[in-house]
Amino acid sequence: MPVSCLPMMIDGTPTLINQLICFDVHQPKRKQSAPSIPTPSTSIFRLPLEVMTIILSHLEENDRPTIARLCRVSKDMFSIAAPILYKSIFVSPLLAYDSRADHTLDRFTATGKEKTNTRKKKLLKNAELVVIDSHHATWCGHKSFKYPNLKTLVLILTINGFGSVLHCNDILEKQCSLVKCLEPKKLVLFGMNMTSITTFEMFGVPPKIFSNVQELTSVAIMDETRPRTVWGGFQEMPKLKKLVWFFHTTHPSMEWQAGSRDFLGLRRNHTPCETDLHALAHFLQTTPNVPTYVVNSGSLHPKYVGETTASKDRIQTKFVEYLKSIMLDGKIGPWCKEGWKEGTSESEKEEKRKEYRSRFDNIHFISMKEYLQNHDWSGEIVPHQAKLWLALAI
Ligand SMILES: [Zn+2]
Repeated sequence: MPVSCLPMMIDGTPTLINQLICFDVHQPKRKQSAPSIPTPSTSIFRLPLEVMTIILSHLEENDRPTIARLCRVSKDMFSIAAPILYKSIFVSPLLAYDSRADHTLDRFTATGKEKTNTRKKKLLKNAELVVIDSHHATWCGHKSFKYPNLKTLVLILTINGFGSVLHCNDILEKQCSLVKCLEPKKLVLFGMNMTSITTFEMFGVPPKIFSNVQELTSVAIMDETRPRTVWGGFQEMPKLKKLVWFFHTTHPSMEWQAGSRDFLGLRRNHTPCETDLHALAHFLQTTPNVPTYVVNSGSLHPKYVGETTASKDRIQTKFVEYLKSIMLDGKIGPWCKEGWKEGTSESEKEEKRKEYRSRFDNIHFISMKEYLQNHDWSGEIVPHQAKLWLALAI
């Protein structure tokens, strides 16, 4: 066995995947008819296709470079491994996250003489999940990709003083040409924090991607910078059926809180926590009245509910009460800290309350575990983090 395979061995025994890679990639090149070479009919290739697919699907979550190596083992292995590898595509200016780092199309030699472009088109048909990282606008300038079977698009946004941007620190108004032609059913916006969620101007994010969205997840991440609060509306999503607000923490023991470094100054008379929660309430009111899930609010820092220390359950309960009071009492917007806007009549208040109550009744506040057990969380959280939450006793 070649020395280069040894680190992948467990207890001195080559793993199944190791055998797959070692026998072919590291063998000196010989003609296929040579009797000493294991062939699909004489090796572990005899495993049923379904079993191979299950094994490789597991690797897809944990070890993509290995699947990429398997693609180069043989034509047969390519036909099993490549569709699995290409189910998820990661486009990132950071090489460590970029798909091309572990499977440059030119490096796939197993299918022989096929042109790279043809092969690329075929492979991209497998893509169901596409993740596009925040990047410089010039970087995506002339590229366009088509993903005909795309289900989920994840955009990783950067938060700056203007809000959430896809094109960081450059030509903000330039729409992303990588994303322009995509129309996902599920859209995950990573980095849609409470203080930046309600802008019409989605810097770098083309409005067209919202047109077919049935499911929108806003992932509120912990970010050091607190951008200016923007009060507006949200993109129209005529097909929206489900909305998720996700307080993202990478570990169950972490407490969620927005940035401490204020970018452009807080609104008058508001504490940072009030600003955050009022912005969230505003977001929930201005989005379509579809079933909505607010996930993991129990992980909020206790200061959000006026406590110094409290259990997850208590934080969630108090958070729901507080959000309800600001949603139903018209205390929405930076001008409304004391309640309804001046001059609002009693009948107008009653009418609005009805509308807000109906919206509030459509919001489900659930724990991370409950969400992971009952919903499709692909693109929202990585599997090894999900496992930590699912392992919790309650
Ligand atoms: Zn772009």
